[in-house]
Amino acid sequence: MLTLPPSKLPQVGTTIFTVMSRLAAECGAINLSQGFPDFDPPSRLLDLVTEKMRAGINQYAPMSGWPALLEAVAGKVRDLYGCVVDPQSAVTITSGATEALFCAVHAVVRPGDEVILLEPAYDSYQPAVELAGGRTVRVPLLRPGFGVDWDRVRTAVTARTRLLIVNSPHNPTGAVFAPSDLDALEDVLRDNDVLVLADEVYEHMVFDGRPHLSLLGRPALADRSFVVSSFGKTYHCTGWKVGYCVAPPALTGEFRKVHQFVQFAVAAPMQAAFAQFLVDCPGHAHALADFYQSKRDRFRDLLAATPLRAVPAAGTYFQLAEYSAVSRLPDVEFARWLTREIGVAAIPVSVFSTAPTEERVVRFCFAKNDATLDAAGARLSQLGVAGGLR
Ligand code: PMP
Ligand code: GLN
Repeated sequence: MLTLPPSKLPQVGTTIFTVMSRLAAECGAINLSQGFPDFDPPSRLLDLVTEKMRAGINQYAPMSGWPALLEAVAGKVRDLYGCVVDPQSAVTITSGATEALFCAVHAVVRPGDEVILLEPAYDSYQPAVELAGGRTVRVPLLRPGFGVDWDRVRTAVTARTRLLIVNSPHNPTGAVFAPSDLDALEDVLRDNDVLVLADEVYEHMVFDGRPHLSLLGRPALADRSFVVSSFGKTYHCTGWKVGYCVAPPALTGEFRKVHQFVQFAVAAPMQAAFAQFLVDCPGHAHALADFYQSKRDRFRDLLAATPLRAVPAAGTYFQLAEYSAVSRLPDVEFARWLTREIGVAAIPVSVFSTAPTEERVVRFCFAKNDATLDAAGARLSQLGVAGGLR
């Protein structure tokens, strides 16, 4: 009888995104849980991928990325954030942001190192740190508003701290950094060698006229950061799994040592297509904030006709909703009930935290056609009619 070794991730089950999308499919619910659009990428981008395949771009891409795409990313961060980087030594194309996050953690975190997370935290950070032998130190975001408690972050830094992971715009809360956050971050890092992993996958979804404040816009932060983004979010193609990491050459060198053995290289025709699309159609990314802001506002108006209370959201394609007027169930059970009985799937927010919470909040994804949002709103408006607390 074979004895298996103990699990390396004993606390980890199947991700909440898989669980809720599966339940939504089983129940025929409208799936506002896992974050993905229900509409297509720009048709020019689809044509370009086909053209690149037909043109014979079907074999391994270079390990670090398709050269023209490295150039396009360097051009983008220069134009948007004033950050001048060498495409050959500071940009790496990855298999989605997920791979970039994993490689960045494994490039620098050693057994016994501490990594500071701000919670609620996106679910892939903690397992990546644990697999690298590190230990997470979790600092809760402030209520209300989900701002960062920089004094607590400062206190959490020890001689063992290797990395601080930040995420703006923030999944699941929709909070975004203000200039004072970057000031505080610079201050926290002033007298130590702590590195930063900045998850900026929602960089083009910041609303109400605010700019996205990338760490790449601050030389003191860019000098010690891995900055990660995802083409899946920006170009409505989460299923293609293409993202990138920008980091100074010394960090990029270590990052690529991991990347070349996790993934080696990313789908070549997609990279060639993105390279051309980024240069030919920069307007797509620039228009994204307005596009998603109007969906956020539409969804908030729909929620206003239900007993759910929308929490202010300044970025991402997620909307938190507080449900205490409807149910006393904990959020994991409420999300299941909502999926089964009301026919709308959502993500319970407590799964992104380790600290126990009394909050009654679920996350909806509004990256959907207006007809989908309207249909979900109509179902959610039934919540009031049922009456009584569950
Ligand atoms: N970080 C955050 C905050 C995300 O929300 C996601 C995906 N939704 C990712 C990383 C992973 O991105 P990708 O699908 O490009 O791997
Ligand atoms: N990041 C997406 C979300 O927050 C899901 C990605 C995944 O399913 N791994 O919904």
